[in-house]
Parts: sequence; C-alpha cells; structure tokens
Amino acid sequence: MAGFVVQKYGGSSLVDARAIKAVAGRIAARRRTGDRVVAVVSAMGDHTDELTALALEVNDRPDRRELDVLLSTGELVSCTLTTMALNALGEPAKSLAGWQAGIQTTSRFGRAQISGIDVSSIHRELGQGNIVIIAGFQGIAPGQEITTLGRGGSDTTAVAVAAALGADRCEIYTDVDGIYTADPRFVPAASKLEEIGFEEMLEMASHGAKMQPRAVELAMVYNVPTYVASSFTDAPGTLIHEGADMTDEKHVGEVRKRVRGIVTDTGFAKITILGVPDRPGLAARVFEPLSAADVSVDEIVMNAGQDAFTDFTFTVRDSDLERALEVVEPLTGEMGGRGTVSAGGLGKVSIVGTGMRDEPGYASRMFGALAEHGINIELITTSEIRITCIVAEHHLGDAARALHAVFELG
Ligand code: ASP
Ligand code: MG
Repeated sequence: MAGFVVQKYGGSSLVDARAIKAVAGRIAARRRTGDRVVAVVSAMGDHTDELTALALEVNDRPDRRELDVLLSTGELVSCTLTTMALNALGEPAKSLAGWQAGIQTTSRFGRAQISGIDVSSIHRELGQGNIVIIAGFQGIAPGQEITTLGRGGSDTTAVAVAAALGADRCEIYTDVDGIYTADPRFVPAASKLEEIGFEEMLEMASHGAKMQPRAVELAMVYNVPTYVASSFTDAPGTLIHEGADMTDEKHVGEVRKRVRGIVTDTGFAKITILGVPDRPGLAARVFEPLSAADVSVDEIVMNAGQDAFTDFTFTVRDSDLERALEVVEPLTGEMGGRGTVSAGGLGKVSIVGTGMRDEPGYASRMFGALAEHGINIELITTSEIRITCIVAEHHLGDAARALHAVFELG
C-alpha cells in the first residue's frame, strides 16, 4: 500500500545548487515508490545567519516584525529552487510559502508557535499529483503577519504538517545520521540509537541534541513516528516513537534500567542574586521583567536561605547575559539584595533515561565520575528522567567521555 510521508531537509543538506539537485533526486525517488510526498525545507546553508547579520549591520536592534519577514525569505529561496529542481527531473511539484500552506501561528515574532494548520491547499496540490515543497520555519499570524518559529523551526513545521495531514511518519534528513548516545565529536565511542522514545528524546532535544524540542513535543502529543537520518547516505537512522522508552534492547522483555544517552550543550552563563530578603513574590519580580526583555531563562535554582535571606541563581544563553544583567542589576538594589555575580563560558552535560525513574544511584555515580576527573559542578538540575550538571564549557568533552564510560554506553 502506498504510504504518505512528510520529509524535512535541513540547511546543511541544501548548501548549493548541486546539493539541492541531490535532495530533489531523493524526493523524486521516494515519489516513484508510489508514496505521496510532502517535503519541508530549511534555508540554504547558513542563509538564516547571513540574513540576521545583514539586519544587524543596518540596525543593531532590528524591529522583530521586519526581521521575521526578512528571515522567512531564506526558506522561500530553498523551497522554490527545490521545486524547480524536481521539475527538471520531470516531477510535478509545487512550492508553498508557510502562509500558502495554511500554517497559522501565534503573534510572537521570532518565536511564534504553530496554532493550527489549514491543510486544504496542501491537499489540493497533492490531489493534482504534485509533490508539495513547503517553506519551513514560518507561518502567518492574525493580521496577516509573517512570523518565524525560532531557530531550527523547520523541524517543527515538518512534524506539525505530518500530524495535520495524518501522514504515516515524519522523516528528518540532516547532516548527522541519527541520534547518538553522546555527541561523537566529544565521544568517539558514541553509538547510534536504532530507536528512542518521545519522552527521552524530548529531554535530549531540550538539553543539547540538535532537534527543536517543540518538534519532539508535537510528535509526542500527536504520536507521529519521526525518523532522523542522513541526507547524504542511506545509512539507517534513528526512529523516535512511542513504546521505545521502557524496553531494554540488551535484555529483551525487561524494563530498562539504563541511561539512554548523554547530551551536551554550550553557550550558557549564570547569574546569582545574593542575599535578598526572602518575601513572597520575589521570583516573579525578577523573572517577569526578564521575560519582558525577551531573555529566556533556562535553569533556575533558588535557595531556602538562612536568616530570612535568600540567593537565587539562574542560567541564560551567553548571548543574553548582557541584556539580563541590565535588568537584574538595578532590581537587586531595589529588592535590598547584596549584589549580583555572573559568569559566562558554561556548558551543560546531562544524562537521560526513563530507566532512572524511581531508581536511586544515578546521581551519585554521575557526580562521582565528574569529581574523579576534577570537574567542578556549578549547578545541578534534575527531572524525573534526567540529571544535568552545569560545568565550565572546556570541561564538556571530558565530562561526556567520563559519563559515557561510567554508564556503559559504549
Ligand atoms: N533556517 C532556520 C534556522 O536556521 C530554520 C531551520 O533551519 O530549521 O534556524
Ligand atoms: Mg538552518
């Protein structure tokens, strides 16, 4: 029976005309198997970065609405060229900008969320026998405004389109050939996972794996099996799907009591507000203005301090540190705090696995392994199935290798 697939090709698979032709060849080959194919594309190569840099050259604080329209053009270039390349191969195809594909979003420029998809134009094109190529990363908000979905947003477009169309699965083609037990650049012994559950993948994506977390969240909510593989080879990739969370691939039939993977992420800074009088509403007083200044706060740790004073520490992206301090420093004074300290150049290393739930001992093994390598832990945060340590960025490689060995992932 013919299938129905939504594919996504990342920017590194579309760097130039030759690469675009190669992607068109892959899409065409899939269509020739009889499957209905919709493909979502990212902007070519580093085009999004280049457009951003160009905007910053003319205005160091570009208007977000204008920036979104500008950035959305990157995906228009790649989707039209991919369509033309398909036509050159004799395949009927049609490109659709996000708004033409019916992708409706919230109004938050730069970080809009998909709120609904009107699939009628996609269905119309498919009905006419076309392969449909959709510009990723963009949509339309109330008032006819063009929006973008945040960096890496084409993953989210692809999963959302697959969910809305009821496709059999979503396939994400990229420059890595799947999800690994750790970043192979840090850990040569890392191995590719054949499959992983949504819940574990969501933690991995939120803490450094190269996939937009929102895409995994949507795949989980709408139960869209999502396959991540290379666009350059035919090597088997990783299938993210329901049911892969709890089984043990090495002890069939048993509940897995293992760490599934290690993820690392770079480019963080931490800010600590020292000795503020502990009163209700304190956290809100700090985090509301940060969010108004569009600084996203990552991890938050608040101490129940002594003598009615408290410290709190949170992390932000290195690139947001200055903006965050502009907000926090004056506030610290107003709140009667002793001062603010900050440090950049931090990274995160996390262990993830549903097997950690209700099983003690993972934390002590993790901290022990880091201590043995002389790696100082700056901050610790956890979820039910994840433990994260914030460490100096230059320690990430050592940390990942040590943990990969201790948790026997090789
Ligand atoms: N082109 C956008 C970016 O570079 C979206 C994407 O690649 O998914 O972030
Ligand atoms: Mg890109």
